[in-house]
Amino acid sequence: MTSGNQAPAVTKAATGEGETVTYDGNEYSIIREGLADILVPASLRQKDGGKASDEQQVFYNPIQQFNRDLSVLAIRAYGEDALANRKLNVAEKRLEKEKKKRRRAEGDDGNDRPAKVQAEPQTQEKQGSVEEGEDEDETKTESTMRPRFTILDALSATGLRALRYSHELPFVTSVTANDLTKSATESIQLNAKHNKLGDKIQVSHDDAIAHMYRRIADDLSQRDARGRPGKKNKYDVIDLDPYGTAAPFLDAAVQAVRNDGGLLCITCTDGSHWAGHSYVEKSFSLYGASPIKGMHSHEVGLRIILHTVANIAARYGLAVEPLLSLSIDFYCRIFVRVRHNPQAVSFLGGKTMLLYQCAGCSAWETQPLVRTRLHPKKKEGYFFKHGLAQGPTVDAKCRHCGSTMHVGGPLYGGPIHDQGFVRRMLDLLPTLDSKVYGTIPRMEGMLTTALEEHLPGPEGEEEEGAEGTEGPEGAEESGQVGLRVRAGVDPREAEMARVDHAPFFFMPSRLSGVLNCQAMPENLFRGALKHLGYRVTRSHCRAGSVKTDAPWETIWFVMREWVRQKAPVKTEKIKPNTPAYALLGLGQTGDDAKAKANASTGTGTSTGASKAEEGEEGEKDQPASDEELRKTLVFDDALARLGKDKAKGNKRLVRYQDTPAQSIISMPSNQDPAIRQAGELHLQDGKLNYTTIDDHKEQSSLPEEIVFVLKSTSPPLTGHSERFLVAYLREDSEAPGQPYTLHLIQTDHVPNSLLDSHLISGLPNHLSPEHAIHIIVSTKAGTGLALACWETVVRPLLKLLFSSIPTGLGDENGDGERYHVLTTRSAQSIKQFAKSLCSRRQSATTTHPETIILLSGDGGVIDLLNGREDTDNNGNDDGDHKSPSTNDPLPTIALLPLGTGNALFHSLHKPLYDSSAARTTAVPSPLVLGLRTLFRGRPAPLPSFDVSFSPGSQLVSYDDADAPSPHRHDSQVSRLTGAIVASYGFHAQLVWESDTPDYRRHGDKRFGMVAADLLRESHAYNARVHIHPASSSSLFPSSPSPLSPSSPSHEIRITNHQDDDDDDTTAADGPPGKFSYVLAAMVSNLERTFTVSPASRPLHPALHLVYFGPVGGERTMEIMKAAYDGGKHVALPDVGYEEVSALRVTVLEADARWRKVCIDGTVVEMPHGGQMTVSRMERSLFGVLVDSSLLG
Ligand SMILES: [Zn+2]
Repeated sequence: MTSGNQAPAVTKAATGEGETVTYDGNEYSIIREGLADILVPASLRQKDGGKASDEQQVFYNPIQQFNRDLSVLAIRAYGEDALANRKLNVAEKRLEKEKKKRRRAEGDDGNDRPAKVQAEPQTQEKQGSVEEGEDEDETKTESTMRPRFTILDALSATGLRALRYSHELPFVTSVTANDLTKSATESIQLNAKHNKLGDKIQVSHDDAIAHMYRRIADDLSQRDARGRPGKKNKYDVIDLDPYGTAAPFLDAAVQAVRNDGGLLCITCTDGSHWAGHSYVEKSFSLYGASPIKGMHSHEVGLRIILHTVANIAARYGLAVEPLLSLSIDFYCRIFVRVRHNPQAVSFLGGKTMLLYQCAGCSAWETQPLVRTRLHPKKKEGYFFKHGLAQGPTVDAKCRHCGSTMHVGGPLYGGPIHDQGFVRRMLDLLPTLDSKVYGTIPRMEGMLTTALEEHLPGPEGEEEEGAEGTEGPEGAEESGQVGLRVRAGVDPREAEMARVDHAPFFFMPSRLSGVLNCQAMPENLFRGALKHLGYRVTRSHCRAGSVKTDAPWETIWFVMREWVRQKAPVKTEKIKPNTPAYALLGLGQTGDDAKAKANASTGTGTSTGASKAEEGEEGEKDQPASDEELRKTLVFDDALARLGKDKAKGNKRLVRYQDTPAQSIISMPSNQDPAIRQAGELHLQDGKLNYTTIDDHKEQSSLPEEIVFVLKSTSPPLTGHSERFLVAYLREDSEAPGQPYTLHLIQTDHVPNSLLDSHLISGLPNHLSPEHAIHIIVSTKAGTGLALACWETVVRPLLKLLFSSIPTGLGDENGDGERYHVLTTRSAQSIKQFAKSLCSRRQSATTTHPETIILLSGDGGVIDLLNGREDTDNNGNDDGDHKSPSTNDPLPTIALLPLGTGNALFHSLHKPLYDSSAARTTAVPSPLVLGLRTLFRGRPAPLPSFDVSFSPGSQLVSYDDADAPSPHRHDSQVSRLTGAIVASYGFHAQLVWESDTPDYRRHGDKRFGMVAADLLRESHAYNARVHIHPASSSSLFPSSPSPLSPSSPSHEIRITNHQDDDDDDTTAADGPPGKFSYVLAAMVSNLERTFTVSPASRPLHPALHLVYFGPVGGERTMEIMKAAYDGGKHVALPDVGYEEVSALRVTVLEADARWRKVCIDGTVVEMPHGGQMTVSRMERSLFGVLVDSSLLG
């Protein structure tokens, strides 16, 4: 394994990302991550861009780079610290020994005993209980060579983690890369050899659990003179990175890692268990805890996993100290230190809690499972006493809204991060090379957020009164009984007893949803809580989250005040027995309601009287009472300023990001168009005229260029009552480098007609803070304008909108936190995005709605539709996933037509082109229409259809056009989802052949060339086409074979004289048909002027079949021309046109050239006799934004 001289004559320096090497006659491509090169069989390599294909991801999954970067950093922070401490310990012990020796020699042992007593706790604090005996070993190591530092990569796969740890962590002396499969270990061997790490990486081909237990067993049987087990086989670090749950590995891992503070790194990707609520029983069996349903389910999930680890470790006297616990994308990653410390373990019950979760209003309460409280010692000071907990701490119904309470847990209740550790990680960040670590901004953002997430509890404060016996009722509920730190308490014990007083976040937007009121800007919410004397921070788990030490009583008070002052709700529409009804105090007498609104300090406030804000607004002489503070709560600018984050330098942090890091490119933000001040805007002769104020220039815009009008937050300059902000877009495809010019003007007067149709008065729901907003910029999309459009048009418009609505107080943190940008370089990026979107939806409990702004052509939609992993269809139901329930809002796509194919967009907007208004005035450009829909449209389910293929069908594609020598790639396909067309014959052939290298080099001209060639050849396609009438849809909604023999399908026959063909010719013995054209459309238009199916209407889930026989090239041309003439071809006698619910095409061509079918631009080659079955889907996968007029 270490010889390394076998095959390649390639030195490391000569190789690099994207190059290839040969080992044992096999060719490999090199992918570089961190300092490691990973070899991927060249046969699997796809595309020139170096992006990973599905098969390739077995070898390299780029999405996990963040996890790996983070792990390298965490182990480095841990290792450097641990080694320094060990050195110190060894030095101290040696010193101690020498002292002892000297004393013995001097014969005055015992004189300075106190010195020894003092020295011990110090040593312990530094690196815990380094037990005597092992220091012998350490001393030797230290004096002769580098101290041993070993890592186990227990589920190593190709060994990428092992490679990276070996390369990037200089203090690591050995990494064991273990995997169960032979092929994986071979791959690790090869990678280790290629990376010249053969001496550092030990390859182990074993079951991970067996490997760890074997080493534990060896240690147990090698006891020292005092009967203590050996420790030689323990690892400094064990990394568990399974696909799915890590639960089965935990028992071995806690024992196989050093017990004087070894590091465990744990990934769990089974979010549907610990953060979902559909597999409660599975969560309980794996983790011994129930999850909850709610916005903070991922935070609960972290505590479930920590509970499991801590609980398993506790039975061996091992205490677990969480160092960093992160919820990332759809998995979680947890770093904990394991230490033999029975005293700390005894505090675990007091730090383990149940969670009572209101199903109606989201309020929660916790309850510790062991009551840990301070008890006075006989003489002086206090000690912690553990006893039975009292409960339950809540009623069966929520005391805020009267809804049912659910029980979740048990959960780990201590702090989930170690501040010092996170800080050490952050301190290391500046030393990293951004070329090597691709995810530095995200690491910085997430770590900073994690660091700030913690709200110190009352331990740090002196507590008057209460003798640590019976705390106030509320305090007990939040698990704080008797944990106050005061003089006379051992600080180490206080640390062991520490619980997190704000364990869960909430989403202000969700609370607005409960009351059905306008959402409160985040800064106002934060400001309100601060004003009332509470502390506020956020969770790393979710953008827009709020963590606070305020009790729910106060949180709901703030919401009620918001409703009362700023966001009135129609109370008459709120039904009794709803949470809103109870929360707003409806149905109570005036006094009761008032009392509710003023419900003050005493009841249930865990923090008691208000706290003056720490070091913020100067010192308050006399902290005002909660009641007084409530009276002065006003939702104004000052409150928003109070709630605003204090700037951390000028740096903008990437706090939240849930798209693959390597797809993100940094966006220059200096291109915002200036807002020009203008005089009145007047409509004259079809033009909008205005004069700019600064230079008195007359300007004009066209009504069709207007994107939107907003009410300006600036005061009017003239006698008008309001000031407006008008955005219009001028497009010039000829202008080099500047195809779009966005104009923004502020004016006191806008013609009413413009206001009627373009004024946005509130944030559209799909752009509200409640929604996760993703922007997909498809740089490969056709004309390549997407990036320019994003930069110069969409981004500035979003920024403007978010800063203007609803109150202008909103998003002063900048728009960076409001959306995520994914810039794609290949179709794979969107598919990966769709996959992560899908798994988020499957694992999240209350899926928060998502909006996807797609700057792309049809291709982007198709990738979204097909990126999902449909467990239903694959029958791959291992219980790990659930399909999003039908109640979950569909992710909504906003289409901005920026590709070569925009059939879906044009079809959805066809009524706008055709409307009478459009006929009298100029029709806006597609982009302006798309933008208007983005800002003023409403979502509707996107109709789609399902296509299944018989075995042997291959998805065909070529490399990107700019590849030097394009390669064709085939992959098995059994199923696709479409939204536009499924075709066989002329259309499919045209799509396919114009993508082949021969034609591709001709650029845009190629479509015409291919069409001309095909028409000349006028091939008659040999196929049989069975259809299923539209009326019988309900029989075969999603059955895998909608055209079963018993179904009332019939075969389409082409005869010389097209007749109605009414009789159900199901006869399979007739001669196969010959076709020129078979196309099932779900949309009306393939291009803006090419109406393939005039009867198709936007949003109607109907499939229309267009077909005709072998009519010859000339006639085909005529038919196509008629289609360009508003879809008149369907009335021609030789064209068949009817609505179907399903169809099946059996391809009977001998030559593979003619066996291509096309699904929304994707080409599939059928085997001879292969079948493609197309059926409309009953359930949409996505929503799509459309003009409101389409929804009636
Ligand atoms: Zn409630």
